[in-house]
Amino acid sequence: MPKHTRPTIVLLTLASLVFIGTAEATSTLAADEIPLLGKAQRDGRCANREAYSLALHGGTARFPNTYETGVAFIKKLLAEAGPALREGATSVDIVHRAIRAMEDSGVFNAGRGARANQAGVVEMDASIMDGRRMNAGAVASVKRVKNPISGAKLVMERSPEVLRVGPDAEDYVGYRGGAIVDPSYFRLSGLTFNDIPLPKDILMAPPNAETSQAAATYSGIWGGVLNGAIPILLIVETVTDQGARVVFGNGFDPGSNILEGAAGRYEARFDLGALVFDVDNPAKAQMRARRTEDGLDVVFNLANGFRLTTTLQKFEELPNADRHGTVGAVALDRCGNLAAGTSTGGFGSKKPGRVGDSPIIGAGTYADNGTAAISSTGHGEYFMIHVIVHDISARMKYGQQSLKDAAYDSIHRGLTRAGGRGGVIAVDKNGTVTFAFNTPGMVRGFVTHQEAPSVGVYKMQPR
Ligand code: ASP
Repeated sequence: MPKHTRPTIVLLTLASLVFIGTAEATSTLAADEIPLLGKAQRDGRCANREAYSLALHGGTARFPNTYETGVAFIKKLLAEAGPALREGATSVDIVHRAIRAMEDSGVFNAGRGARANQAGVVEMDASIMDGRRMNAGAVASVKRVKNPISGAKLVMERSPEVLRVGPDAEDYVGYRGGAIVDPSYFRLSGLTFNDIPLPKDILMAPPNAETSQAAATYSGIWGGVLNGAIPILLIVETVTDQGARVVFGNGFDPGSNILEGAAGRYEARFDLGALVFDVDNPAKAQMRARRTEDGLDVVFNLANGFRLTTTLQKFEELPNADRHGTVGAVALDRCGNLAAGTSTGGFGSKKPGRVGDSPIIGAGTYADNGTAAISSTGHGEYFMIHVIVHDISARMKYGQQSLKDAAYDSIHRGLTRAGGRGGVIAVDKNGTVTFAFNTPGMVRGFVTHQEAPSVGVYKMQPR
């Protein structure tokens, strides 16, 4: 049992000394300050074989032209991580360092800048798995751990448990030397829940202008916060004199829980978790919108008679419009060892205490030296129920499928048929990288011993 074969404190102290000399203060991919276990890790080198690979993801994607920051950040990370792997960094080390850098960047829905839950609090989940030792660690619902992926790694390496949650997990991470910060650290100075004032006068009238004028006035992607707490996207796709077609996004991650509803004359049916719009009784459940100088004033009358109002801004003008999803990393090192990790602020505007797939081994993260290392992003409930990333490994192990076929089938047959949306990045024991997703895109990139860093959002597959 890997959990019970930990080296002594003396070895850990020696390992710390090795790493003090290699700290790279200015690099995005800073050196690992947490002592690693295992001979290769103690040596800080892993260079027996030629092949190495690293793939990263920054969440699923829906809208064009809003991912530059994440793509650029992933490209920079790959440019630093490729040489580190070539020089012998271990897969666990590189997965941890890459995810930690993404958590620190403020660019993703992980660590600093992660999306808040319905109570307005950033509540994070993360996991990491070492495919050589079949060892794993995870934290869930943490609000004060600066780097949830480092917390997960501490749980993997220093505790007999696999998953620790909530304030007790925070205390454990702090006790083991992980950085603990005030919850305010995670909130960026951009748009926050209370930044969008609620309009005093609710404007109920639909446009009565000419259709083409109305379309020009309303069409586009609008974002804002409902009821001071619930981030939403509203995509007004078409406007005719018969009404409008709108699409709702629950949260600022454009790839997240998008719910489509045919709209009559600005009446629609959506289920946003806590919010239910019911067209069976249109008089009570309506959405109305009016363009004003300040943006798009909207009012939602809910089925229960409750009314929500807000002013939405053009999505591309929102301060955090270019921030996006969950992050993940998978790697093969030059010892032939695989590792995977995932970190998130969670799906949509999740309910407090909701835990998704990202910290669940087999659903969000999995690594087995005999098959592959896999990290997922998307609607976590589906990834948990269908144990998607373990399913990919099992297809390879028991069905002798290739990584590419296994990932394709698991996403495009399993997940899609179940009604779930999302994707995975994966690397097998030979260093073959693959991506599979059923969303329009996934922010992702990879580097191997043979291929220079490559990043993309929509169509891109390694050769
Ligand atoms: N899978 C994550 C969750 O369900 C969210 C995401 O990947 O966007 O919490």
